[in-house]
Amino acid sequence: MPNTAEAFLKFSHVRKTYDQKTLVVDDFNLAVDKGEFITLLGPSGSGKTTVLMMLAGFENVTSGHITIDGQPITRIAPHKRNIGMVFQNYALFPHMTVAENLAYPLKVRRMPGAQIRQRVAEYLKLIELEPFGDRHPGQLSGGQRQRVALARALIFEPALVLMDEPLGALDKKLREQMQFEITRLHRRLGFTVIYVTHDQSEALTMSSRIAVFNAGKVQQYAGPDALYEQPANAFVANFIGENNLIAAGRPELDDAGMVRTTLPDGTPLQARNGDCHAATRRCLLSIRPEKLAIVQPGQAFDNQVTVGFLTRHYVGDFIRYYFQLPGGGRAVVKLLNDTRAPQLRDGQPAALGWSAADSFAFQSDVPLQGEAI
Ligand code: ADP
Ligand code: MG
Repeated sequence: MPNTAEAFLKFSHVRKTYDQKTLVVDDFNLAVDKGEFITLLGPSGSGKTTVLMMLAGFENVTSGHITIDGQPITRIAPHKRNIGMVFQNYALFPHMTVAENLAYPLKVRRMPGAQIRQRVAEYLKLIELEPFGDRHPGQLSGGQRQRVALARALIFEPALVLMDEPLGALDKKLREQMQFEITRLHRRLGFTVIYVTHDQSEALTMSSRIAVFNAGKVQQYAGPDALYEQPANAFVANFIGENNLIAAGRPELDDAGMVRTTLPDGTPLQARNGDCHAATRRCLLSIRPEKLAIVQPGQAFDNQVTVGFLTRHYVGDFIRYYFQLPGGGRAVVKLLNDTRAPQLRDGQPAALGWSAADSFAFQSDVPLQGEAI
């Protein structure tokens, strides 16, 4: 794990309120190493842009502090922070050519003309737009414009680059192409990125670490595989990837880090403990759709639940099967579309099975009532 004391960029107990009443960022802590690609991932309104604005210096920090290389930046003016920025609608100057747009940040920094021309040529080549230097932004496609915006944010070689939903306005294919492009430039040039998105697949593909954000608080800060395979709580388990969250009863914790619980109809279940502790709340069992099996005769699983088949959604490379759980709720099973994909009739009873090691028990919001604690 990175050494927090030596982190390149560090947020310590940062809070932000706009109205002196509600905290839109609440005790935000994050340590980022040089060269990392960090994504802030969370639903709309969770405070992601506010964090970037405080880092860029366009918003005050209500309390707490931000340091770069150990130096507090709170009192440094925005234009002196040497941070590159790309936003969804960060418009290029329409009256300037592509080359002039790229030259602009260098002119502002008083780089000599010959050096500017050389640097602009280098960056046009880097974004594979060499023949387009004399065009105006209006003569470029959306994807090309966003590549120019990216190059303009990088051309003065800032150590830190902030990107706020930079691909939000592009269609799916172009977005994937740009994800590839940004990752390539990041590897090649080695700057540190703080990237903001609400798109989890974008976050998983590009980032070295992801801070999952909800209601102004970091829910988990980890690498993509750890977030998917070891989510810290029900919010993360549900936000990252597809998931089944099955409402269960009282969690019984054992010393080996496992939880036993039951469904409303008494079906016993076991799972790895996620964040259940004092048993004052009911628990949720979390299991990924690709870890669920439709039980075949002769098969046995740690967990087995009787269900009724509802419907299936044909996706092409895989098929989603929906089932009714005992006591309410639904479960989805994701199976590869191969010869083993079963045919089921509406309402047909079936059993779903899964390994205890593949599932987690998390706290729900539902308190235990009238049940022994
Ligand atoms: P995100 O980028 O995750 O969508 P934001 O940081 O934009 O979230 O917003 C977090 C919360 O702060 C929202 O409730 C939003 O309405 C509020 N907010 C954002 N900017 C301002 C502002 N300039 N003045 C007042 N409230 C704001
Ligand atoms: Mg935002």
